Amino acid sequence: MKFSTLVSFFERLEETASQNEMTEILAELFGKASESDIDIVCYFTLGTIAPGYAKVDLGLGEKTVIAALARASGRDEEAISRWVRDRGTLSALAADIEIPWKEEYRDSIAVENGLRVEDVHDALMRIATASGSGSMKKKKAVLGALLAAADEKERYYITRLATGTMRLGAGERTLLDGMSHAVSGSKEHRPVLEHAYYTCSDIGHVANILKRSGISGVKRIRVSLNRPIRPMLTQRVGELAEIVGKISSERIAAEEKYDGERIEAHKDGDAVRLFSRRLTDITGQFPDVVEAVRSGIAATTAILDGEVVAYNAGGGTYQPFQQLMHRRRKYHVKEYAETVPVRYMVFDLLYLDGNSKMCFSYPERRAHLKEILTPSELLTLSGMKVCTSAEEIRDAFLSNLKRGLEGVICKSCATDSMYEPGNRSWQWIKWKKEYENGLTDTLDLVIIGATAGKGRRSGGFGSVLCAAYNEEEDVFQTVCGVGTGFSDEELEGLPEKLEPHTLDRKPSRCQVRNRTEPEFWFSPEYVVEVLGSEITKSPAHTCNWDEGEKRGLALRFPRFIRWRPEKSPEQATTAEEIARMYRQQGNRETRWPRRR
Ligand code: AMP
Repeated sequence: MKFSTLVSFFERLEETASQNEMTEILAELFGKASESDIDIVCYFTLGTIAPGYAKVDLGLGEKTVIAALARASGRDEEAISRWVRDRGTLSALAADIEIPWKEEYRDSIAVENGLRVEDVHDALMRIATASGSGSMKKKKAVLGALLAAADEKERYYITRLATGTMRLGAGERTLLDGMSHAVSGSKEHRPVLEHAYYTCSDIGHVANILKRSGISGVKRIRVSLNRPIRPMLTQRVGELAEIVGKISSERIAAEEKYDGERIEAHKDGDAVRLFSRRLTDITGQFPDVVEAVRSGIAATTAILDGEVVAYNAGGGTYQPFQQLMHRRRKYHVKEYAETVPVRYMVFDLLYLDGNSKMCFSYPERRAHLKEILTPSELLTLSGMKVCTSAEEIRDAFLSNLKRGLEGVICKSCATDSMYEPGNRSWQWIKWKKEYENGLTDTLDLVIIGATAGKGRRSGGFGSVLCAAYNEEEDVFQTVCGVGTGFSDEELEGLPEKLEPHTLDRKPSRCQVRNRTEPEFWFSPEYVVEVLGSEITKSPAHTCNWDEGEKRGLALRFPRFIRWRPEKSPEQATTAEEIARMYRQQGNRETRWPRRR
């Protein structure tokens, strides 16, 4: 496919705010793309160049792109930076500026019949993989050649792809809907496509198989080592006693709930790779866990699911989540591995010696896990007690709290208790200490805007506008503005932290009422944990917007608790969960204490 054809689809996607229209455009795009470029078309549409787990980083900061533009256009870097400030974005400038073609570019890029999608991808991959001495020079040269070969509109989108600022209105779910529409004219295949995508985490691969072998081929997509599986998620209830009714099995496993970071470990012979909840490769951060899995798992190949917690082995005590965050680093990894020791609490087995275990029941998976895991200081099976009544679950829960844990995760032991990738399933239900104390559960919300600070806060932000994720519509809907709970230091650092994600208009896929529009906009990137006093109906917020009542759901008296860097925007609390919490709250008024 010609890159200019893809660009015309991007323009159409950006012109509409209607999800249905986007789905139709994407279905048409799917039909136009060929088997050889459909994967790239998917990555580009999502603003990336490869699946997230593939560790492909272009390594192009704004400064490098400015330098490349300066060199290719023969202008001065200072002048380019000034123009960027005037024009607002680098991509707008790249579209405007003239970049003369030079014969020497022929070595970097083929341009006989105009740029093809593969040419752009190939050049971006060469930029990403350039390493060692002189790599920056090479990156700039390839980018310069690519921009010189492109026309005005193409340059606009290439620069957005290169700087990681390409966000069209379509998210992953809309793209999957588009694929379903392309083959059947409806969304009927979305569940199958979603399951395949959550199993292999490569939307380009799913699209390619769909194109080549149809929906029956997609159904055959299996787990593979070194491709993360999207983690299964938990549900919440209003009362502990409800757990027994919701989980349809006589025996319920009450597992310890740890406050750490979800990690999926892939063991492939002696090689071990670790993936975060965002499905990024974080192997480098935990050399101690890598070694523990390598030596403590008696299997040639295996995929484990579990939680890494900061742990004081001497005292046998669990440390707070904030402690674990010190291990999120590129440098001084070894030093911190010693000062902040961790323990990998493994609670599931998804793959063993060449076979997927996801269709096995929870008790079967757990039995296999027990057989292959040799416990050590750094690696152990999650604690678990099988219960048959709410009283027994409460006992397990209280005993966990005494040992410094967060609560319990109750898991079905029924014969159909399969591992459901990416699904928020009623087979797993959490119960946390906050619920018991009569406090509300916290929400994980995405920052999409900020108001300007006044008085003591002038020059900075007054509050941040937070949104929940509406899975069905694949959009972000506002729930509250959060201005309290931040330390002075955090508040001061907010503008700098959010700056790289600043936009000059409302981000696509975000629904905001006019009256709630903030002064600053950010593309959905950061997730924050927020505590509130109750959920109310409000004309100011769009979460579960009711057109008849002209009101949505809002969180009252919200308070910042902590950053959730391990969660992606799509892993924020969903609009559906908030609707359920609203209904549960109606049943039990005391759940939400009125706060001042
Ligand atoms: P929350 O983040 O509060 O929605 O709780 C769900 C998260 O708890 C999961 O995504 C895991 O990261 C974490 N977790 C801690 N212990 C367990 C466990 N035993 N089983 C499953 N998830 C657990």
